[in-house]
Amino acid sequence: MNEQHLSKRLQKVVSYLPEGTRLADIGSDHAYLPCYAVLNGQASYAIAGEVVEGPFQSAKKQVEKLQLAEQIHVRKGDGLSVLTAEDQIDTIVIAGMGGSLIRSILEKDPSKLAGVKRLVLQPNLAAHKLRSWAETNQFALIAEAILMEDQKIYEILVLEKTEQPVHYTEKECFFGPFLLAEKNEAFRAKWLHEKENWQKIIQTIEEKSGAHAENQPKLKELTHKIQLVEDVIV
Ligand code: SAM
Repeated sequence: MNEQHLSKRLQKVVSYLPEGTRLADIGSDHAYLPCYAVLNGQASYAIAGEVVEGPFQSAKKQVEKLQLAEQIHVRKGDGLSVLTAEDQIDTIVIAGMGGSLIRSILEKDPSKLAGVKRLVLQPNLAAHKLRSWAETNQFALIAEAILMEDQKIYEILVLEKTEQPVHYTEKECFFGPFLLAEKNEAFRAKWLHEKENWQKIIQTIEEKSGAHAENQPKLKELTHKIQLVEDVIV
């Protein structure tokens, strides 16, 4: 992968950027995504934010090598703290992290989202935490994608600022309203795999410690999640 050839996952993320956007890529690693977006005219300006020194240096080198330092500013810092009002960022990408971490980045400094119109989020797990965050933060899902690359399955959530109330049912929050409507191959593979895992965990708990009261909440939660999967995948 490089700034010319992104992974299938990041290519899909880029496809959701509005034309000529002012982009922030938080957790930018090598800055491949903002470089690609600027080189292809999808972003007119970008901030690549990175909290760890090594990836921050890699991102800086990459931007300098491509002589894109005027359009792409690489900044070191935690989450949205690297953004200023003057940047006039309208789209934020946060990709390749867990849903809980992405949610904590969004929650840490909500004022930084003031002018932001679109979020393109790619959680590696626990996407439901972002859908429930959206419900209480005036963002609504406008699209979702799920795809397989190198035997891994990735979900992408695209959210836009809204003034309307946002509510997702338990199943919509868990599976994703757009993904649920489509139920493509990757979706089925992901949830059947999760279901098998949960079944194995239940079996292990029951074999090891049987029907101890302290196990009941966990067993109940896993059984409920298995039921949700069985309800949507027949
Ligand atoms: N976004 C790229 C992608 O999707 O390929 C890189 C993903 S990499 C697995 C996650 C990156 O996010 C790492 O470089 C890590 O240092 C950075 N990161 C983690 N927490 C962060 C935070 N709070 N603020 C900024 N960057 C963060």
